[in-house]
Amino acid sequence: MTSEKKGKTREDIVRFIGMVVQKQNWRLNPDAEFLSYLIDGLLINYNRYGYFSCPCRDAVGNRENDEDIICPCKYCRPDQEQYGHCFCGLYATPDFFESGRIPKSIPDRKIY
Ligand code: SF4
Repeated sequence: MTSEKKGKTREDIVRFIGMVVQKQNWRLNPDAEFLSYLIDGLLINYNRYGYFSCPCRDAVGNRENDEDIICPCKYCRPDQEQYGHCFCGLYATPDFFESGRIPKSIPDRKIY
């Protein structure tokens, strides 16, 4: 028997973001290839840091300093209000999603 902590799987990440969109009434990026890239990023970050650090930003590596970029991050709602989707384009509003548009690059609201 080992005491090593087990990492998350890709299925865990898919389940997690599915729970988030259901709870928040958000939609996922409709671009399947880009969505898959974001899922991989969340998976790598979780297994590296132990929390869902944003897949589109560099993490410091400790929860306290990365609190604002733990997914869904604190910039998600204001970005959705202004652009219809978060910085990574992972989570979109229902209106944006139904418009048929694809999330695009937006400025990072985080101040470094
Ligand atoms: S920008 Fe999107 S994917 Fe990145 S942490 Fe915020 S909500 Fe998550």
